[in-house]
Amino acid sequence: MTDGAAPTRIDLGLVDDELACCVACGLCLPHCPTYRVTGEEALSPRGRIAAMRQVQWDGAEPDDSFVRSMATCVQCRGCETACPSGVPFGHLIEATNANLPRKRWLRQPVPRRESLVRLGLRALGHHRLLLAGSSLLGLAQRLRLVPRRLSRRLGLPDRVPVRRPRKLRASGTEVWLFTGCVMDAWMRDVHVDVQRVIEATGAGVALPGHEAACCGALALHAGLRPDARARAEHTMRAFPGDAPILVDAAGCGAMLEDYGHLLGTPEAAAFSARVSDVHEWLAKRVDRLPAAPAGAHRPTVAVQDPCHLRHVQHAHQAVRTVLSPYADLVELDDEGLCCGAGGAYALTQPELAGAIRERKVAAIARSGAPLVASANPGCALHLAAAGVEAVHPCQLVARELRL
Ligand code: SF4
Ligand code: SF4
Repeated sequence: MTDGAAPTRIDLGLVDDELACCVACGLCLPHCPTYRVTGEEALSPRGRIAAMRQVQWDGAEPDDSFVRSMATCVQCRGCETACPSGVPFGHLIEATNANLPRKRWLRQPVPRRESLVRLGLRALGHHRLLLAGSSLLGLAQRLRLVPRRLSRRLGLPDRVPVRRPRKLRASGTEVWLFTGCVMDAWMRDVHVDVQRVIEATGAGVALPGHEAACCGALALHAGLRPDARARAEHTMRAFPGDAPILVDAAGCGAMLEDYGHLLGTPEAAAFSARVSDVHEWLAKRVDRLPAAPAGAHRPTVAVQDPCHLRHVQHAHQAVRTVLSPYADLVELDDEGLCCGAGGAYALTQPELAGAIRERKVAAIARSGAPLVASANPGCALHLAAAGVEAVHPCQLVARELRL
C-alpha cells in the first residue's frame, strides 16, 4: 500500500453460502495431508477456510502467509469426504486460486516457481508440441543430460519415452476413450491395455483427435481458470454424439465430470453426464471379461485410491470389482490419505509432496504387497519416483488375461 491509499479489496469470487457452511469442527483435520505432515492450523482445511473468510468477508489483504496457505493445498479433497457439513472445499480453493491477483503469486518465493509451472501448463494444449518436447526430454535422459535425481525431483519418469507405442486405432463406436495430454505422451502403453480390456467385453472403442489433448485439470489446479475453460470447450467438441466417454486417469475423469460446473451450460452438463471412469464402466460388465487362464498365478496387489477417484468421483470401489477376479487385493490402512502427487504439486511443493508421499510409502510397506495398482498416472509416477512398483489396474488385467 502507498500514499495512504486504501487497500484494494480482493474478491476471491467465493459463494457466501459455501464459505459459510464450515462450522470449524475440525473433523477434517486428520484427513488433510498437509496438516498431517506439518501440524499447522494454517495448512489445514479449517485454517484455509478461516483465511479465505478474512479476505472475502473482512477485507484483509492476502499476505504471504495467505498465499502459502493456499499454494500448499494439494487439492486432494479428502476434507470434503470427511466433512459432516458438506463444505465444497474444491470449489472454494479453485475459486481462490483463480481470483488471487497474479502479482500476489509472482511476488512470493514459492509461487515464483509456481508461475513458471503455470507457463509450462499452457503448452499442454498443443499436443504435437508436447509429444515432440517429451521425446527430446527422453533423449536427453538417455544421453545423461538430465540426472535421474533431477528427473525424480521434477516428478518425471526415469525414462520418458522417446518413441511411443503405435498411435491407437479406433475399433468401433460404442464408447469413447479419452487419451489426454501427458498420459498419452508418457504412458500410452496404459491406453493400449485399457483399450484391449474394453474390447475384451465386446465393445468397440472410438478415439478423439488432438483437439481433446488436454482436459484442463492441471490448469484449473494452478488457478488458470480461463485456460481450463478453453480446454474444456475444445475437449467437448472432440466427442460428438452421445456415446459414453471413458477415462483411465482419475484426475482427468474428475475434471471432465465437472465441466457442467466449470462452464455452467446445459451442453457442458450433458457432456459431463456421459463421462465415467473406465473402471466404473467395466465393473458393470465384469462378467463379460474372460476368466484368468487356468492355473495362472494371482498377484498380490495393494490398491492405492487416487483422491480424484475416491473423494471426487466416489468410484474407487469399482477398481476392486474389476481387479478382484485376477489378483489378491490388499487394503492400505491410511483411510485413503493423499499420496502427495496432486497435479503439478510435486513440482511446486517438492518438500511437502515428498513428506506426504513418505506416509503413503510406509502404508504400502506395512501392507506387505509387492505391487501397487493406481488408477491415476500422476500418483503412479509420484510413487514410482520413491521406488514403488505401481501399475494401472487395467494393465494388470490385460497382463493376467494375456491380451
Ligand atoms: S484439499 Fe486436501 S490438502 Fe487441501 S485442505 Fe482439503 S484435505 Fe487439505
Ligand atoms: S471443513 Fe467441515 S469438517 Fe472441516 S472444520 Fe469445517 S465443517 Fe468441520
